[in-house]
Amino acid sequence: MTTVLEVKELKKSFGNIHAVQDISFSVKAGEVFTIIGPNGAGKTTTLEMIEGLVTPDYGHIHFGDLNWNKNANDIKRKIGVQPQSSAMFDLLTPEENLDLFATFYGRARQTEDILELINLTEHRQNRVKNLSGGQRQRLAIGLAMISDPEIVFLDEPTTGLDPQARRNIWDIILQLKSLGKTIILTTHYMEEAEKLSDRVCIVDQGRIVTLDTPSALIEKLTEEREVRLSFLDGEEAAKDGEFFANTLASVSRTEREATSLILWTAKPEETLYDIFKFTKEKEYQIEQVSIREMSLEDVFISFTGKEWRD
Ligand code: ATP
Repeated sequence: MTTVLEVKELKKSFGNIHAVQDISFSVKAGEVFTIIGPNGAGKTTTLEMIEGLVTPDYGHIHFGDLNWNKNANDIKRKIGVQPQSSAMFDLLTPEENLDLFATFYGRARQTEDILELINLTEHRQNRVKNLSGGQRQRLAIGLAMISDPEIVFLDEPTTGLDPQARRNIWDIILQLKSLGKTIILTTHYMEEAEKLSDRVCIVDQGRIVTLDTPSALIEKLTEEREVRLSFLDGEEAAKDGEFFANTLASVSRTEREATSLILWTAKPEETLYDIFKFTKEKEYQIEQVSIREMSLEDVFISFTGKEWRD
């Protein structure tokens, strides 16, 4: 697939804050590319450099063979940037805001069409100040779509929204993707990155921690699974089980919480086979067994050694 954006070795400092230290990636046509990271990781600064709003201290940004120094107007026609809520006109309606933005950016999609896309047809005549947080965010996405851009930048479009409002935004993002748009998204939410993205770039402290498809990232970790067994015969049985589990070569470590034994194994089937043989011999009963699914959150913890904080 064609590469529509390539960034190389981006760097940006504000005084002695190194907001972006070294970021390189490329984005292909039609993909949802997500930059995820904790507060202050450098997501917004990265996006703003790509959008031409902040000048990098160092690095290259290419949209195909276009760059900001020589082809600013061509790039502006290609990209759509979701405005901050504060850029909208609160006393106007969504319809009026869209019409007004069309006069700034040149219209390529009809207002009706966009209202439909962002599911605001019903509220077209309400003043923006009376819209909910989710509706305002949908309008912001609509405003980014006025010029019918090829590449759409969405900076934390769901931050602070309740789960239902967040899902409504996900539906819109997936619709944009089905229209063939390339979407560059930032988020704090792992679940969002996992659900929407073709590829995820995890950033922390201005650097890329890892970058791949969500499933490949998770697969990198599935070498080790967390298995939890609860013993019906009380703590002593669980302790005995833990002692036995630690003798198995497939088990890398164990923990115990009252009558539950938690273990980490690269070979869950083999480990469980051995454990069940042991519990049968000892006539212990196992109440429940679970093997935990890995998530992008585990990927983050594994790569950075830090807990994920929303
Ligand atoms: P958040 O999720 O909180 O939006 P982020 O990952 O988008 O965070 P940035 O907004 O890019 O992170 O900020 C990275 C670092 O740079 C932070 O420490 C921030 O305080 C700092 N920073 C960003 N913009 C400026 C600025 N204009 N002046 C000074 N410091 C800035």
